[in-house]
Amino acid sequence: MKYFPAFFDLTAQRVLVVGAGEVALRKVDLLMRSGAHVSVVAPEVHPELERRAGDGSIKLTRREFVPEDLVGARLVIVATSHRALNRWIANLSESRAIPVNVVDDREASRFIVPAIVDRDPVLIGVATSGTSPVLARRLRERLEALIPTRIGAAALWLRSLRAAAKKQLRDIAARRRYFESLVDGPAMQRFMEGDEPGARRIAQQLLAGSATTPAAAGEVILVGAGPGDAELLTLKALRALQNADVILHDRLVSAAVLEMSRRDATRICVGKAAGSQGSTQEEINELLIRHASAGMRVVRLKGGDPFIFGRGGEELEALAAARINFSVIPGITAASGCAAYAGIPLTHRDHAHTVSFVTGHDDKSGKEPDWRALAATGHTAVFYMGLARFGHIVARMVQHGASPDLPAGIIAQGTLPQQRVIVATLATLVEAAARAELESPVLLVVGEVAALHESLAWFGGAEAAAVSQSA
Ligand code: SAH
Repeated sequence: MKYFPAFFDLTAQRVLVVGAGEVALRKVDLLMRSGAHVSVVAPEVHPELERRAGDGSIKLTRREFVPEDLVGARLVIVATSHRALNRWIANLSESRAIPVNVVDDREASRFIVPAIVDRDPVLIGVATSGTSPVLARRLRERLEALIPTRIGAAALWLRSLRAAAKKQLRDIAARRRYFESLVDGPAMQRFMEGDEPGARRIAQQLLAGSATTPAAAGEVILVGAGPGDAELLTLKALRALQNADVILHDRLVSAAVLEMSRRDATRICVGKAAGSQGSTQEEINELLIRHASAGMRVVRLKGGDPFIFGRGGEELEALAAARINFSVIPGITAASGCAAYAGIPLTHRDHAHTVSFVTGHDDKSGKEPDWRALAATGHTAVFYMGLARFGHIVARMVQHGASPDLPAGIIAQGTLPQQRVIVATLATLVEAAARAELESPVLLVVGEVAALHESLAWFGGAEAAAVSQSA
């Protein structure tokens, strides 16, 4: 992140604007609304700025800029049409540690000004770090359409309820819950529709209710995070992440998904990276129970779907034994997500009528899957496991009757921008994979459908196809 996002309180602060054309006028008006004391320096002045000076709203000095103009300025905005002059003023400001913005010259600017959606007191700023002002404006337009006009009024209304809430609800968590039920429920809806008395009535009822009911019991929500692309979260998963007090997640859960969670939720990584130890299952169960017993809303976030090779069942058994409330939100499992993004339909009327999901992670028992069934024609077998096991799988499949020419594909880091897909045959797969130096997690798809990737690939670059042809 190149820029630190912040909102600056400029009430009664001196801000210097150098230049007095159209652009300067727009900046001056924005600055005036924030309560700044604006000084403008320029030899030639837009008539509107002239008027602002006339009624005393700004201080206007009609001459060329001189370094002494910087004295006492908290911010400087430079908007003359001379680039060299702009840069000289920017350097002078820098050397005095006064934050400076040069209009249309990001390199010379210490701070940049975002495109804004103004629903005072609600303010949304959009910046693209200077990469594309057009994109920033388009985003701003979309937000404009999305954010209700009355959101500013709603914010003021919510503020007016804070004192009473603070008096009646001692506990911070209880207060947060009260405000959440206001914002998410019928009270806010009424307010937005313009029925303020109705909104107030519901708010009073909610407050009385929150004050008399004991603290909410905690709960655990077992949430499927999907295979990696955060856009594949369900709406329910997103809501759970936004409301969580504590999030216990596996290492497999992508950074993009974690980004979607409430900023001040406590995040605990309990995952095991391949080879490293991580928390034991008992420790995880214990953490879940401890936090939920303390009244927290705990999200147990697992890659893919929690009920597919995710030990979700075992964790729920522990919770049930401890009489903790729980619920489950399914996620898109790696097989569905990766197959979709690799253009490999798992079933197809011409190629496969059944599909199996197989794991080799936990065969401590030494139990082998039914290889004959997995190798049968008209079947797709999806293996959830690390690359190291692929040689073993391929050998077993061939031993049990699969043709060495049977197509097989590997999807690495599926659904993420860095996704890679290798398609080969059972005979050539292991070598092709070694050559491609794939990074985990990886998923193996064995069956005729894997060959469809050649014609149905749609996500990412063409590297995968090239590799499979040479394989
Ligand atoms: N519960 C998870 C699976 C956990 S087992 C689910 O439903 O998806 C972990 C295995 O899933 C990994 O070893 C890998 O084989 C597979 N996997 C998970 N995410 C993946 C991804 N983005 N790309 C490829 N394979 C993935």
